[in-house]
Amino acid sequence: MKKTAIVTGGTRGIGLAITKALRADGFDVAAIYHGNDEAAQKCANETGAKVYKADVANFASCHDVCAQIEKEMGAISVLVNNAGITKDGMLHKMNEDAWHAVMETNLTSCFNMTRAVITGMRERSFGRIINISSINGQKGQLGQTNYSAAKAGMLGFTRALAQESAAKGITVNAICPGYIATDMTGSMPQEVLASIIRSIPAARMGKPEEIADLVVFLASDRAAFITGATMTINGGQYIAA
Ligand code: NDP
Repeated sequence: MKKTAIVTGGTRGIGLAITKALRADGFDVAAIYHGNDEAAQKCANETGAKVYKADVANFASCHDVCAQIEKEMGAISVLVNNAGITKDGMLHKMNEDAWHAVMETNLTSCFNMTRAVITGMRERSFGRIINISSINGQKGQLGQTNYSAAKAGMLGFTRALAQESAAKGITVNAICPGYIATDMTGSMPQEVLASIIRSIPAARMGKPEEIADLVVFLASDRAAFITGATMTINGGQYIAA
């Protein structure tokens, strides 16, 4: 029987690679996006995923879209909390909107989406929740107090929920990508990117597909004993104990 996976931000960048990889592994995929209809349509045409417009920062929107997905595609086995944004700036110049937008889109979204699917997973005694955090949630990054705090928060969320869920056959893990070539990093100044690449032992940025491959493994039955883990994929840029 085919399993259904939800990938938030599944229509562009790392999320698109995850959508493609899960489809190739036999999943039905619901890819959630926020505003870019053109990218969503292209994703649907190219991958055969169903695309749904919703705001992961909004509790009611997440509840409604998950209910619609369940109705149209069946029970949710896998949730990938991948949608995220940046609104960078030094703290002494950061306004409240930049703080709250990043916290809500990157961290509160994990509560909003997971809350909408976890009861069904517990009832069925199976689930895979995979949270896409960041290297900057592990090490902190100048100009990203909001983003680093949200991404570090995802790691605490992952560890606590893993303990709550293990006995119910649900695993909860986090992936911390290093710098990956997507629209998010493409908007950074070239000289900043060049200096970041000089600090990566592998001497290159990562590819979205390299994150997607790990998601597929964590979503599989082979990963049933991995839970509460923080997996790093960063070319050696930051090696956590
Ligand atoms: P992109 O900017 O390329 O894509 C972001 C995706 O998230 C889009 O599909 C976008 O939808 C969706 N999205 C944004 N806000 C919302 C929202 N409020 N509701 C629903 N969907 C939303 O990002 P990346 O692929 O680069 O990043 C994906 C994840 O990986 C993020 O969480 C990011 O923080 C993390 N990450 C990225 C790294 C990198 O180097 N790229 C490094 C480490 C972590 P739409 O297309 O409609 O705008």
